[in-house]
Amino acid sequence: MELRELKGVGIQLEKKLNSLNIYTIEDLQEYYPYRYNFIKIEHLQDISDNETCTIKGTIVDSGRVYYIKRNFNRLNFKVASDNILLNVTIFNRAFLKPNLTVSKEILLVGKYNKLKNSFVASDIKFNVIDNRIEPVYHLVEGLNNATITKIINESLNYINDIDYIPDIYNEKYNFISKRNAINIIHNPKDKDNLKKAIVRLKYEELFNFMFKINYLKKLNSKVKGIKRDVDINSIADFKNALTFELTPDQDSAINDIYNDLTCESRMNRLVLGDVGSGKTIVATYAIYLNFLSGYQSALMAPTEILAMQHYNSLKNILEKFNIKIALLTGSLKKKDKDVILNDLREGNIDLIIGTHALISQGVAFKNLALVVTDEQHRFGVGQRNTLRDKGITPDVLYLSATPIPRTYALTIYGDLDLSIIKTKPMGRKEIITHVKKESEIKDVLMSMLEELKLGHQIYVVSPLIENNETLDLKSVFDLKEKLEMAFNNQVNIGILHGKLKPQEKDEIMNDFKDGKIKILISTTVIEVGVDVPNTTMIVIYNAERFGLATLHQLRGRVGRNDMQSYCYLVSNMDIERLKVLEESNDGFYISEKDYQMRGSGDLFGVKQSGEMQFKIANLKDDYQILLQTQKDAEEYIKKELYLDNNYYKKVIESISFIN
Ligand code: ADP
Ligand code: MG
Repeated sequence: MELRELKGVGIQLEKKLNSLNIYTIEDLQEYYPYRYNFIKIEHLQDISDNETCTIKGTIVDSGRVYYIKRNFNRLNFKVASDNILLNVTIFNRAFLKPNLTVSKEILLVGKYNKLKNSFVASDIKFNVIDNRIEPVYHLVEGLNNATITKIINESLNYINDIDYIPDIYNEKYNFISKRNAINIIHNPKDKDNLKKAIVRLKYEELFNFMFKINYLKKLNSKVKGIKRDVDINSIADFKNALTFELTPDQDSAINDIYNDLTCESRMNRLVLGDVGSGKTIVATYAIYLNFLSGYQSALMAPTEILAMQHYNSLKNILEKFNIKIALLTGSLKKKDKDVILNDLREGNIDLIIGTHALISQGVAFKNLALVVTDEQHRFGVGQRNTLRDKGITPDVLYLSATPIPRTYALTIYGDLDLSIIKTKPMGRKEIITHVKKESEIKDVLMSMLEELKLGHQIYVVSPLIENNETLDLKSVFDLKEKLEMAFNNQVNIGILHGKLKPQEKDEIMNDFKDGKIKILISTTVIEVGVDVPNTTMIVIYNAERFGLATLHQLRGRVGRNDMQSYCYLVSNMDIERLKVLEESNDGFYISEKDYQMRGSGDLFGVKQSGEMQFKIANLKDDYQILLQTQKDAEEYIKKELYLDNNYYKKVIESISFIN
């Protein structure tokens, strides 16, 4: 049924509704209130003078309009309320006069003047019954709450009976019917029933979502992978080659990977771990195991600098096992690049490291069987399937330093298996963090000087505003000048920014690594993703521009050894939020706080994809329902109960088709 077929919907209104993403009657029915006004009807004798209140009354006369000025009028009429005859005034509502039917009951919102026995109303509600809890909808200009309420109520005459909650769960939880729930959510009579309606609709939405995720997971588990025949002793051999002991969580992640790679089904695993928790070594084991069974691996990083860093740190370990490794970056000369590409095709290279472009640029392999992607969240959810689209189905391992609480990870990455690394390597000191206002910059400079005196190095991060890069680049050079002045031109300062050519970047990075540059100013977040253990301090300007989780990750660039490290967050705004980082070094705690403070719009730095936009559920508040639907959807799929449900049979067909 078309919107226009509804009573009261013309072209203009239809356009307004469309701009709210409402195109069908169902959209209208599912356009839920975002909050409610709880109206308490009071009696005149209980109201103190000039207090805002809501009263019920009966219209006594049909009123009179006084035009005071252009754009200014007054409507006066009499109302009987609790046996008192009141003079009611409302301003600029002359258009309401035709609605003043004598002896009709209405609600008046406004202030009561006892002495004058008058009531100055700010609002009049003409449908009294049932309307004590008033739904409030998101609106657009030219569409008021009363109109949308009326149109929605009109649409409620045409509710169809599709219920997406399977019967067994409807019975198990004794849910009210969908028809009832939708009626109640738009016309609640009491809080208890309203709550029941909301819970029911949230459950339905989340169950539907979790069903899809769990079914995807089931499909993934059926995809045949490579069953590698590698001895469990490979783990011990690998550990013997390391200069440190693995943490228990690293151990168990490696065990997970061993099981994945030596069993029938394809690996689809996410390693979640705080910055510095040692995810790389876990991935290195996967590469080693893959090599032992004669296959090639690829490691993708979000930036060339990170790729380079991985190359340098993996080379040392992997060369002990005679694993041939190469770095493929955009800055390579064509001749060198061709050699690498050829070696890859011939199988002379066992591990190739590069950026995300590695796979998409049509690099040919002899027998690629494992892809590791670092900092997975930077690639975005939608890009996970690029490989699949290319017809390659290697085992996949994702590494993410965004420490998403497990439950939320279940939803965003619900179709992946999870290994979580919580424990940090021994001997790591907490990074001491201070939030400072710009006026306190002297304190920061003093601390910087202390570190420089100890021979340590420092990162300074100064974010760019996207739309105004040139201008802000200038401010970065200003910053350099200021720092040079502060340190009497005795300190060598380098700048790394997005406009530099790859070679220039490399040069600056190498100078920093070699200690020729003492302070490295960086304009973007990603460029700092380098491992220079001698760096013991990071100073972040305009810290309010970043989410807490991102700041925590940035901070993780220091504290990579047993020296005490420091982080300064410089900002004049948002101090309370930033103080969470002073309080804690626990990425899971921080991301949870970040999530609480910033809401679900930008979940841990991952923009939510379309399918994760809910109409009524909210991943943050509806945690308990989410867990329940996860359990139920899992059971529903495991017992194959969906085979009796036409709706979910269709869902499956569409998922299988996409997959
Ligand atoms: P991230 O999880 O942030 O990627 P890395 O894998 O880069 O962390 O590890 C950070 C540093 O800690 C590296 O220098 C790495 O060699 C070292 N490391 C990893 N695991 C351990 C461990 N169990 N004991 C000591 N050092 C470790
Ligand atoms: Mg890492």
